[in-house]
Amino acid sequence: MRTDAAGLARPRVTDRSSIRPGNLGLVLRLLRDGGPRSRTALAEDTGLPKATISTLVNELSDLGLVREGDLVRGEGVIGRPRLAVELDGRGVCGIGLEINCDYVATIVVDLRGRTVFERRAAADVPLLGPGGTLDITAGLLESAIAHTRAGGITPVGITVAAPGGADPATGTITTSVNLDWHDVAVGGPLKERLAGTVLPPVSVRNDAHLGTVAEYLAVAGDGVQDLVYVTGEVGVGGGVYNAGRFYHGAHDRACEFGHMPVNPEPVPCVCGRLGCWETMVGLGAFLKKAADPTDTVRNTMTDREQRLAELHRRAGAGDERVLGALRDLAAGLGRGLSLIVDAFDPRLVVVGGYFHQFADYLLEPVQRILDERTLAPAVTTCQVRPSTYMYTSALRGAAQYALESIYQDPAGTMNRSPALT
Ligand SMILES: [Zn+2]
Repeated sequence: MRTDAAGLARPRVTDRSSIRPGNLGLVLRLLRDGGPRSRTALAEDTGLPKATISTLVNELSDLGLVREGDLVRGEGVIGRPRLAVELDGRGVCGIGLEINCDYVATIVVDLRGRTVFERRAAADVPLLGPGGTLDITAGLLESAIAHTRAGGITPVGITVAAPGGADPATGTITTSVNLDWHDVAVGGPLKERLAGTVLPPVSVRNDAHLGTVAEYLAVAGDGVQDLVYVTGEVGVGGGVYNAGRFYHGAHDRACEFGHMPVNPEPVPCVCGRLGCWETMVGLGAFLKKAADPTDTVRNTMTDREQRLAELHRRAGAGDERVLGALRDLAAGLGRGLSLIVDAFDPRLVVVGGYFHQFADYLLEPVQRILDERTLAPAVTTCQVRPSTYMYTSALRGAAQYALESIYQDPAGTMNRSPALT
């Protein structure tokens, strides 16, 4: 069983006498993904004896991670109401940080997924370079830590969402084409900048992978186990969940969707190759088609979301150039997603980033392309949906990933975490 990734592994009960830490985590995971349920239901869902479940729930309750809340009715033949066990974890949080091309951000999320702190700073990251960017990032982290300390909340992990490849073992951004960063250490320098503060472990991960974590957790409660997430930014990335597990690939570099060679035109890509999907559906390609170089919507010094909102407004007003660019974008998205859907057979395709911002122009034609291309028309195809968090998926996923150690080893993590009060 893989146990290294963000909610991403599902422990199986193989040894009923093994109470911890796997079974404590198993109970927590069930409550996170499927919602509150009674002790009886937990016993049925885990296959563990009721007495074991009681021990586990009591221990998790003592750790402040679960509580018994409202009554649930209708379980079993008699339907006797029972107390529901639910995630508590108000005193536990994960801290997410995101370094992007034009901003740095932080979010603090508690075990129930509630945002308890959020802050964002505009920053020209390629211009600032690693040193200046990490100064700002450390400042945001300091604010987040101060907030958790004031609220008596214990952070159990910090995860940095990197716009490119990341080496979690060394806390390094290995390659970011968009930032022109190569082998930039992040974890160590952040700790150095906050030398007087006791920090939980810091990890660095690819932003699109972390976005996939957030989008998966948003729909896991609906029983979705197989999902593809594709996000449109300057680059195009994403991730895959298969049977409730994140798909890493051999080198943790899976799902570099943006560099699939699907553009029939040999347009040069930032990666050095020709005809990558990104050259069809990346933000740069879309903006080029939608507006002249001197148009304000192409001024990268101004807020990207607002520039795209202006293009969305123009589309609504019938601007033929923008509408044409959106038609091309939908066709390009449909082409690439067809390959991905054929490869992974997901139940759901979630589109995020700027694809989400233009969802009202993209989803219908893209769904039509996928429906037309399905290999078995009688079988229901996968559904295309806008993301839950649009531009904040990666940041939110980072905070949720930072909580992962709680699911791996609830008691050990709580005991190791720095007391802040
Ligand atoms: Zn490429």
